[in-house]
Amino acid sequence: MNPLPNRENWSVQNADAVLHAVKTDAITGLTEQEAAVRLTANGRNELEQAPTVPAWQRILAQFQSPLIYLLLAAIAIAVVAWGVESFKGWPIDALVIAAVVLLNAALGYLEEGKARGAVAALARMTEARSSVIRNGQRLQINSVELVVGDMLVLAEGDAVGADARLTQAASLHVMEAPLTGESQAVLKNPATLAQSASLGDKLNMVFKGTAVTQGTGLAVVTATGMATEIGAIASLLKEVKDEPTPLEKEITHIGRLLGIAVIIITVIVVGTILLISDIQTTSDVVGVLLFGVALAVAAVPEGLPAILSVVLALGVRRMAARNAIVKKPSSVEALGSATVIATDKTGTLTRSEMTIEQIITATGNSRVTGVGYAPQGHVQQDGQDLGEGALLDEQTLLLSYGSLAGNSSLAQSADGQWAVHGDPTEAAFLVAECKLLQDAPILRSKRYARVGEIPFTSERKMMSTLEVDHDQGGQIILVSKGAPDVLLEKCTHVQTGQTTRPLDEAGRAQILEAVDTLSDAALRTLAVAYRPLSADEGQGQGKTPTAALERDLVYVGTVGMMDPPREEVAVAIAQAQAAGIRVVMITGDHPRTAARIASDLGITKAGDATLTGLELDALSDADLAQAVRRTSVYARVSPANKLKIIAMLQADGQVVAMTGDGVNDAPALKSANVGVAMGISGTEVTKEAAKVILADDNFATIVDAVREGRNIFDNIRKFLRYLLSSNMGEVLTVFLGVVGASMIGLNSTSDNGKTAAVILPLLATQILWLNLITDTWPALALGIDPPTPSVMTRKPRHINARVIDFRMWLGVFEIGLVIAVVALLTMDMYLPGGLIAQIDADTRAGDMATARTAGFTVLVMAHLLQCFNARSETTSAFANLFTNRWIWAAVGLSAVLQIAVVNIGFLNVAFGTVPLNLDQWLICLAMASVVLWYSELRKLLLNFAA
Ligand code: ATP
Repeated sequence: MNPLPNRENWSVQNADAVLHAVKTDAITGLTEQEAAVRLTANGRNELEQAPTVPAWQRILAQFQSPLIYLLLAAIAIAVVAWGVESFKGWPIDALVIAAVVLLNAALGYLEEGKARGAVAALARMTEARSSVIRNGQRLQINSVELVVGDMLVLAEGDAVGADARLTQAASLHVMEAPLTGESQAVLKNPATLAQSASLGDKLNMVFKGTAVTQGTGLAVVTATGMATEIGAIASLLKEVKDEPTPLEKEITHIGRLLGIAVIIITVIVVGTILLISDIQTTSDVVGVLLFGVALAVAAVPEGLPAILSVVLALGVRRMAARNAIVKKPSSVEALGSATVIATDKTGTLTRSEMTIEQIITATGNSRVTGVGYAPQGHVQQDGQDLGEGALLDEQTLLLSYGSLAGNSSLAQSADGQWAVHGDPTEAAFLVAECKLLQDAPILRSKRYARVGEIPFTSERKMMSTLEVDHDQGGQIILVSKGAPDVLLEKCTHVQTGQTTRPLDEAGRAQILEAVDTLSDAALRTLAVAYRPLSADEGQGQGKTPTAALERDLVYVGTVGMMDPPREEVAVAIAQAQAAGIRVVMITGDHPRTAARIASDLGITKAGDATLTGLELDALSDADLAQAVRRTSVYARVSPANKLKIIAMLQADGQVVAMTGDGVNDAPALKSANVGVAMGISGTEVTKEAAKVILADDNFATIVDAVREGRNIFDNIRKFLRYLLSSNMGEVLTVFLGVVGASMIGLNSTSDNGKTAAVILPLLATQILWLNLITDTWPALALGIDPPTPSVMTRKPRHINARVIDFRMWLGVFEIGLVIAVVALLTMDMYLPGGLIAQIDADTRAGDMATARTAGFTVLVMAHLLQCFNARSETTSAFANLFTNRWIWAAVGLSAVLQIAVVNIGFLNVAFGTVPLNLDQWLICLAMASVVLWYSELRKLLLNFAA
């Protein structure tokens, strides 16, 4: 049941008719109960997405990989081999491989589920919100819960959550590009249209998927979910698929390359075996093929993509726990390689707890005592409350007008705490006004009535309201507050006591000097001005007066507000700098305030220049390119300036993480390498444009996120180093074992007492087992290794640097070779002939099965020890040995499983192993440990060379 009969009709009906049709009340909105009923009846306000894939399909998808096809082929070959031997006993190979396939699929499914769960949790955290009126109260709800009939309250920066018919609008501009392609924001107007119009001309409607760039409005929801205009455009529904990041591309590329290399090696190995052995029966041929397939499967690190996505997803979850919500796991990579963090000041570096400290008007200055939002304190000159006279008149007017020209409110909660609703800069005026005169807000609200507003934007850096003054016979006054330098430009007079006098050059210079003094003390400065409008001007402005009215103003005075820096920020800035990351402040605030705070926080050193938006506009591109290399503080910038600064930094090869909160910051956030939106003060639009949302608006959180990003990247290298060297070890063991069989005595013996045509260094089932226990959990454990202390003391990684560089490839090859050599030499020990004389300590020595079991065990152990080596290319495996319990758990589990495979009877049959005694285990451990010692030596040499 959807109460809207026809999408076309709403704009030609008057607002009351629409409210009536959707059964709602413009003042109180729907009741919560009614909203709940409608939500159940009409469904959630969301666009249909591709149906979620059912679990069975996701399980099936685990089998859809060329590698699994290989394994399935291996099962077929094994069954054929079993058939060739007239179905004697159990088809053990086939069963083991089938178990491997199932286990791999189960692990893949679980890992994928974990990654999906983490991403879904993030999606919930970043759900769009809308302001509505329900039960007569204004509240924030998740936009998916909007229903037809909801009264939608719109303000600058909101993402419009549903299609709605406007009932009120004040300078409401909406960007409708996603729907109409129109790149300019459209000025909305609630007036009823005379006739049906095209989408772009329905000025009295707002549509889901668009964004409010300016102004305010109230609208009644007429359509939700698929019934909206955007729902009707089917093509827009197709989720844009994420481009794989360079990292993902590189890993896929490496995987593919390895796959091809391994298959070539396998073909050579299998070919060599078939050539050099005395193959007589079909079962021999089948055995060799089976072995070849197992080798190929084991040597390809098929777990790579799954482990990568799990590691990224877990990292993203850790970041979320520290207040940095990364919307796409792939942004982690860019965060880790950021070379510049461009941050705004207010709220991010500072606490955004504004307190007016000083007031300067024509007659003199005063100091305001008391901190925080509690309206307790005094406005004093030389330690005395202000007495009757010009100074008191000026300052009363300033605080009263400053409070009028704002939209925030102050309230005391049940526990006595004072809290601000709205912009803290505006609230600071309310607090100071009460400190001057307790009853001021009551008197003010009786005397004045708002009739219009010219909103604040960060381009204009000021705002004005139109107020009817009942004490002056209904005179309409334009009251403005804003950046002093901007406001002063529009002033012709200055308030002195109860009168005004013209502003001459000396007067202007005096005011600017006062502003500089306040700014130098790190205070945020704001000024207040006004103009009584003439009768013609005052009338007919409606709710959206033109900014042209802001001229010939009377300057009342300047306030200096304290906005203390966040405590943790100076430390975070120092950490960022130690990590080779430049911190750049880009603020709308006064250059001197900005410069002072930047130097207090350690962003700049004495003598560093500050560039203002105006200066920036005057520079040529070439000069600006030079300037961005040196400048770390930009003040009085506009959103367009921000975009330019980013472009220049990027052209200089920097990877830029950039913060923003206002709707106009969205383009800059999109173009930065990592756009960071403010979770508390940020608008819905910036949150949509950003890749990362700071839940606490805090700069220090960005630095935490960078640390986590770097750590994740390090961990990816760790598990790659581990997986690749282990796989290299397996391939080389088999390859060298076959090619050099005579050297290690492998061909001079018999297999289990009977002379075999083909003697393989490892059995197919052993290779598959090795693959299973060493490729999965140890690699995952490395993927969640905690950061090393050096993570924030080295330079950022170059964004285009390869994940695996030449040095790492060389290491992979060396370690792989060492693993292969120790495994083969261990076999040699238990075989007659070869390089090492047979050790006769045990009666079973000389038995091919013992030799193979020992070699196989050395391989497993060497892999497990390699897990510790792989944690760093240069730091000893013994350093930070116990910082990651998961590695110990993974290695312990694998070791127990290996003991089971070697020393439990029925597993002996399945894996072609024989039990080893304690001496033999110790010999295996000693041989495997060579990989550890070799790696330690290698690290020593590398450190020595560095
Ligand atoms: P940042 O860019 O670091 O967040 P900011 O808050 O100073 O700093 P803007 O919001 O662009 O940046 O504000 C620019 C200037 O406009 C401020 O320095 C102040 O003088 C003035 N201003 C800020 N808020 C208001 C407001 N609500 N009303 C009038 N003027 C304001």
